[in-house]
Amino acid sequence: MKSKTEAVIIGSMNLGEADKLVTFFSLERGKLRGVAKNARKSFRRFGAGLELFTHARLHLYEKEHQELIRIESSDIVSQHFDIAGDLDRLAAGSVMVELVREIAPEGERNPQAFLLLAHLLHLLNEGADPLFLLRIFEIRFLSLLGFQPKLDKCLSCGCGAARPMVFYGLKGGVLCPDCLVSSGEDQIQLSPGAIGFYYHALRMDLDKVTRLKPSAEIMRELDRAFASHTLHIVGKRLKSDGFLRSVCPL
Ligand SMILES: [Zn+2]
Repeated sequence: MKSKTEAVIIGSMNLGEADKLVTFFSLERGKLRGVAKNARKSFRRFGAGLELFTHARLHLYEKEHQELIRIESSDIVSQHFDIAGDLDRLAAGSVMVELVREIAPEGERNPQAFLLLAHLLHLLNEGADPLFLLRIFEIRFLSLLGFQPKLDKCLSCGCGAARPMVFYGLKGGVLCPDCLVSSGEDQIQLSPGAIGFYYHALRMDLDKVTRLKPSAEIMRELDRAFASHTLHIVGKRLKSDGFLRSVCPL
């Protein structure tokens, strides 16, 4: 059976002499993997259409009872060469696609998550602030995948977040100072400003999101909270996170 899908390339590895195993996040069917036969030799069918971060229209071929999809060819919708040409952009983009590889369920359609990824990679390629875009991506992607942290009320007593709260990674939410039992661990404080920014970034029209201008302090607070949140969802640190921290001081 032949089909076409719009997709973003989120990973690839060499297979055998000339093939590539490509992971992509598609509009119609979510995250999938496919083999591109002869991809390292056939420029005519693939060109740069299987490069990481590329937004392309993939032509697929599937056989019943065959686990892996064949990618027959790729037409580029939007090439994102400038991401790989800049360390900060490459680091932020790498965290985005690794997050998709790690937490998007295989074969599950999520058009909003696809549009978010495609749009933010486009903005990243155009030169918008990489760390800002990464923050927006984490905030919205995790929510679209069902991992939205609860930041508006204390998890224990339900009081509103009108004062600084402490993020509790294990439960994916915040505790107020009254309910917090000190565990001796480093606490991740979230100010009312950071929590307010989070809900703006979550609900705002995606086309207008670059109008938000959070302070450096708000960015740092959310970085720490989301590092902890992601660690609890994925169960390990993302590989690209170390790379990001080595090139982008927060
Ligand atoms: Zn409380």
